[in-house]
Amino acid sequence: MRITDVEVLVTCPGRNFVTLRVRTDEGVHGLGDATLNGRELAVVSYLRDHVAPCLIGRDPFRIEDIWQYLYRGAYWRRGPVTMTAIGAVDMALWDIKGKALGVPVYELLGGASRAGVLVYGHASGESAGEAVDAVGRYLDLGYKAVRVQAGVPGLSGTYGVGRGELFYEPAGTGLPREDVWSAEKYLATVPSLFARVRDEYGDEVRLLHDAHHRLTPIQAARLGRDLEPYRLFWLEDVAPAEQQEAFRLIRQHTTTPLAVGEIFSTIHDATVLLREYLIDYLRMTVVHGGGITHLRNAAAYADVHQVRTGCHGATDLSPVAMAAALHLDLSIPNFGIQEYMRHTAETDEVFPHAYTFSGGYLHPGGSPGLGVDYRDDLAERHPYQRAYLPVSRLEDGTMGNW
Ligand SMILES: [Mg+2]
Repeated sequence: MRITDVEVLVTCPGRNFVTLRVRTDEGVHGLGDATLNGRELAVVSYLRDHVAPCLIGRDPFRIEDIWQYLYRGAYWRRGPVTMTAIGAVDMALWDIKGKALGVPVYELLGGASRAGVLVYGHASGESAGEAVDAVGRYLDLGYKAVRVQAGVPGLSGTYGVGRGELFYEPAGTGLPREDVWSAEKYLATVPSLFARVRDEYGDEVRLLHDAHHRLTPIQAARLGRDLEPYRLFWLEDVAPAEQQEAFRLIRQHTTTPLAVGEIFSTIHDATVLLREYLIDYLRMTVVHGGGITHLRNAAAYADVHQVRTGCHGATDLSPVAMAAALHLDLSIPNFGIQEYMRHTAETDEVFPHAYTFSGGYLHPGGSPGLGVDYRDDLAERHPYQRAYLPVSRLEDGTMGNW
């Protein structure tokens, strides 16, 4: 089998997605997600102008060799644009191999290690009361784990607070929106939010929270300690993720489990965190972390350090990446939890998929390959629209971390 064509497809069914389609001389094709929120066209160019010409004529079954060729073979390696592009190629090749052999990808990865993939949803509200009510709606849907975020009084546009019932999309058209942030005001509200949630729903539901890289190490340590009575499943990105050594200080002060890594491009971004047992969950994703091939290696390195996975699964990943994550999640020994933000109906129509949700768990389904299709006829109705994630400033106008 040989690769004959490589297409980079861009569509915007409510938000932008970049999809790679690799075609072969035997009629089998594979899909990969290449979406990098707010920088989509940089990946399009990397794939179209630099990667695609190198793939034509290659054997798509040689997944590992092609991964090494694209990673080691590029002198300017790593970084989110490069690794998203490699991730898309890698997903497409696993998809081709599964389809050609007639098996779902998880069977190629060693088979299922569990019956289903535990997921968490996003409950949020402008006020703590609205957020508490939103948790109840997720429990009614069958979720066993819920991330909870609430607006902070005195601040507009708090991170993680959605405008709809099930969908949260922070990216917007036009230039980046500017939010205002105060760690002091935030820290004063979060513990009481979780006290209310525990009071309302008891101890069984797994609760998660995301600080989105916005605290200093000592502020993060304080938040972790203040949340201990509410026994969080995890506290996410409590300090800027690239400051790995900062987690030494945080870890000394709190037993709240920590999750980091959705912005990591390779396992090299997490070596201190893992070697020194500074986190409990690694959040690298298939799409931004070099595909199934690299994420499987990252998960194995995490497993050595008793760290479980908790892959990023926001709506800025297409259903192709979600499917790829689910195949990996189902198969690896140290899976922890999978983020699951529901896509809109428009997105699901463009990307019909075999994965299903039931009772708080997702399953990738039994279709050969990844189990996702791409409807060109529908995708073409939604042209690309430039969009950005917001930026954040402190109350005095200083730039902060969004
Ligand atoms: Mg996050």
